[in-house]
Amino acid sequence: MGRVAVVTGGTRGIGAAIAEALHKAEYKVAVTYHGDDEAAKKFTEKTGIAAYKFDVGDYDACEAGVAKIVSELGPVDVLVNNAGITRDALLHKMTPKQWSDVIHTNLNSVFNMSRLVVEGMRERCFGRIISISSINGQKGQVGQTNYSAAKAGVIGFTKALAQETASKGVTVNAIAPGYIDTDMVRAVPPQVLAQIVDKIPLKRLGKPEEIAAMVVFLASNQAGFATGATFTVNGGQYIT
Ligand code: NDP
Repeated sequence: MGRVAVVTGGTRGIGAAIAEALHKAEYKVAVTYHGDDEAAKKFTEKTGIAAYKFDVGDYDACEAGVAKIVSELGPVDVLVNNAGITRDALLHKMTPKQWSDVIHTNLNSVFNMSRLVVEGMRERCFGRIISISSINGQKGQVGQTNYSAAKAGVIGFTKALAQETASKGVTVNAIAPGYIDTDMVRAVPPQVLAQIVDKIPLKRLGKPEEIAAMVVFLASNQAGFATGATFTVNGGQYIT
């Protein structure tokens, strides 16, 4: 294969499963992370995939990080915007920092990373930009005005960029996972999580590998006619 794929937030959870699946499909993979050096070290030891530490919400840091990845692996063919955080609070209690941290990491990152790779993709007439949105960007969620706004923003970004780049062979899609068994979801109190699972028609959490499989498909040549779309993978919890 030999194409270069970058997965932001690829050292844990869904991103790690995506990176491993792309690696198995013979992409040259780089992952990014922000703070958890221990998880990054373990991930690289287990997979042999290099991890690059920078804040995806910071444009200058992304510029330096992408330049380093390109110098070590080559131009980026596939970008997976996966890094994300939650800072939940009801709006009447939400601090400006909780709002801006979530927009910074979940939405500004998508601009930063896409902006830095899209020109090269256009020049080479091939590219795949795949962003991980969320069920809560589609339907909204109590306590997540910040997260729902950021994830809905990712869907709007995807629709607009897809139209800008279609003629250049660059497809742009989003995936909206439902509740997936990762650290982010394990942080939800067990009783609340049990109530959530009860409302999922498949009666279970999703697995990171089930999101990774969708990414591998969207990155492939076979997915060349799919663009501007949001692919829902949520166990039937919200049917759009
Ligand atoms: P995790 O919390 O398990 O992992 C998050 C990853 O993002 C980590 O590698 C983390 O790095 C990285 N990261 C966080 N902030 C930054 C930053 N500023 N710069 C660079 N990297 C950063 O998350 P999940 O695997 O659960 O979620 C992955 C994506 O899927 C997110 O966008 C999330 O919103 C979305 N999603 C998740 C769902 C779920 O049920 N889990 C459902 C729907 C969507 P570090 O380890 O250094 O902190």
